[in-house]
Amino acid sequence: MIKENLEKVRENVHRAVERSGRSDSEVLLIAVSKTKPVEDLMEAYDAGVRDFGENKVQELVDKYEVMPKDARFHMIGHLQKNKVKYLIGKTCLIHSVDSFELAKVIQKESEKKNVITDVLLEVNVAKEDSKFGVFKEDLLNLVKEVSTLKNVRIKGLMTIAPFVENPEDNRQYFNELKRLGIDIESQNIDNVSMGTYSMGMTGDYEVAIEEGATMVRVGTGIFGVRNYSLF
Ligand SMILES: *Cc1c(COP(=O)(O)O)cnc(C)c1O
Repeated sequence: MIKENLEKVRENVHRAVERSGRSDSEVLLIAVSKTKPVEDLMEAYDAGVRDFGENKVQELVDKYEVMPKDARFHMIGHLQKNKVKYLIGKTCLIHSVDSFELAKVIQKESEKKNVITDVLLEVNVAKEDSKFGVFKEDLLNLVKEVSTLKNVRIKGLMTIAPFVENPEDNRQYFNELKRLGIDIESQNIDNVSMGTYSMGMTGDYEVAIEEGATMVRVGTGIFGVRNYSLF
């Protein structure tokens, strides 16, 4: 089933990429595997998936240890400062940096391990109370602060759009994230690039791609519904 789901999602991604006038290599499909067993990840791996998204540090680390070495793990969930030390070196990209305090901890742990950690800044574009992320008004200031950290590299922006029935309702937020990134890019800040826009999930990834997403995070559409009671 995972293989068939993947084929469908890839086809949808491909068509949305074409509508946005880009090529397939410009959009990365991240298979969000949170709560799913390693057998499911391996099924996706065998179908060519190398990028997995997890939202809990312990679960990400456990899966990192047992999956083939060329599997990459994206940290897409809210990150607690006291867990950062377990994560560094095992994630290819942290999508969810939303405070200078968190970035400083990532700096400290990355320096200890002598690595540079790539991050995205999470923006709460829709200003939902229930969501993490910096407000757009505070984004530029955060970019400038984080850009001073030698072992942390800003690669772009991430947002989690509201849960909606009609994906068109989220188009405005995806468009806004992209414009925020273009504004920041134009300021040519040292140590900052804005090439990555992580936006779009199962319900709205096609709209997100049309609006310029370079990474989409798809869980349910690939692995089926999640059963949280197992955890
Ligand atoms: C769970 C999750 C996803 C995937 O959600 P689906 O609707 O299952 O595709 C994407 N992004 C984040 C940050 C998530 O926590």
